[in-house]
Amino acid sequence: MKILLTQFGNETNSFAVGKTSFETLVPKGWVKGEDVIAQFKGTATYLGGALKAIEEEGAEALPVDLATRGGNFGAGPIMTEECASYVMDHITEDVKKHMGEFDGVFFAVHGGGCSEIDLDLERYSFQRMREVIGEIPMTSSLDAHGNLSQDMLRLSNGLYGIKTVPHIDCEEAGYKATKNLIRQIRGEVNPKMYLKRIPLLIPATTGRTVSGPGKEIMEFTAECVKKYNLIDATFFFGFSAADCPCSSCSVLTVADGYVPKKEAEEIADFVWQRRYDFAEPSLSAEEAMDEALSKVKDGYVVINEASDNPGGGAPGDGTHLLREMLRRNIPGTIMGPLCDSAAVKYLFDNHKVGDVVSIEVGGRVDPIGGEPIKLQDAEIINFSNGKLISAAPINFGAPMDYGKTVRLRQGNVELIIVSDRFQTYDDRPFIMTGCDMSQYKILGLKSMNHFRGYFAGRADAIVTADPPGQCPINLKLYPYKNVEHPILPLEEVDSIEQ
Ligand SMILES: [Zn+2]
Repeated sequence: MKILLTQFGNETNSFAVGKTSFETLVPKGWVKGEDVIAQFKGTATYLGGALKAIEEEGAEALPVDLATRGGNFGAGPIMTEECASYVMDHITEDVKKHMGEFDGVFFAVHGGGCSEIDLDLERYSFQRMREVIGEIPMTSSLDAHGNLSQDMLRLSNGLYGIKTVPHIDCEEAGYKATKNLIRQIRGEVNPKMYLKRIPLLIPATTGRTVSGPGKEIMEFTAECVKKYNLIDATFFFGFSAADCPCSSCSVLTVADGYVPKKEAEEIADFVWQRRYDFAEPSLSAEEAMDEALSKVKDGYVVINEASDNPGGGAPGDGTHLLREMLRRNIPGTIMGPLCDSAAVKYLFDNHKVGDVVSIEVGGRVDPIGGEPIKLQDAEIINFSNGKLISAAPINFGAPMDYGKTVRLRQGNVELIIVSDRFQTYDDRPFIMTGCDMSQYKILGLKSMNHFRGYFAGRADAIVTADPPGQCPINLKLYPYKNVEHPILPLEEVDSIEQ
């Protein structure tokens, strides 16, 4: 048995400035089919999980080219029509060449993608794939931030979401999707799905499974899988920055031989009872610094500037937290990856380690993230090529590339500037510039939740900063046009059946 493997997706922030092109989706270009097994076997990624299931079942993997970033997905503004059609043209051309050679398709998608060609990017991707593969079974793994539609179910033979935020079970979702695909092809199982959408948008910053309502829901969903002997069940947090008709949280259940409707409804009711519990306070950069300083013990406190999270589609060049850090000038302060490829290029081309420079950084993409900052007499501490191996649970072992990187120091405050727009998952972007992590007290970074997989337990405390940015906690700040109304928290909703 042969299973064809591929991957394409994006987490779309419809309110982010600009558009996602192929070049910004995957700055390093395609991962070629022939390199996939060497790059992803044994990694904690969707593909790592798919390869594990294939090996376990004695099947053979047939990877075609992938549009992926370190085995996972990027995030950014709405995807151009050209990008979506180019990627699916490329993938389906590859698939056509192999028609007749494979028995099933594993297609890793995100679920939270919007494109100019279709606000439901996954519907478009699945449709394009179906035009080539016809009735050949196809399953997918999905991100917990997927916005699911009935069309996706109609076009798929099995959707398997990750359950955790921060995402630490990507491998498991890829494994489950592929394992059930193979069993389905053999006739050992007959998966049927039910989707229950819930009229609720959850801020990406407060939707997590390490604590609070997200944790309770994840545990309740897992209990239901056991109790009803389901193949799988996922609570999708949805991606509230994606402005499309299918944006909402939802519950998807998968059972053997019957449509598990009442099971999905039971989980959805449990979610609905907790619909107001995702609200959290919003701290300015100044308030976040005060709180962080009050919590420093022997190590460092992490301040995550969630509203400028590149993983949520924001530019990652916002300056609100950095400005506050520079103003206070507290020894042991470092701001992690701020994305400014122009500043990095200038420093690489014109300077060396030890040079003292004055340069403007950040604030280039969207005024909401703050004005550019003029660094005065900053010393260049180190350069890096930006390549690292991830140590974070979301993509442990996968190679990542932040592009050319510089570490600078102005006064007591250090700053890392990178060329490619990634959120911070772990301490590797610091270590790759030679940082000794034990020297810091206050560590700033740009991420909402995924950094928690690594830093929770390592940091003295974690404090979330929510200065103005493209990923706010207060969703009423977004000018939605396409979501279905009524929906919480934009307006009051009487019943889950809206
Ligand atoms: Zn996600």
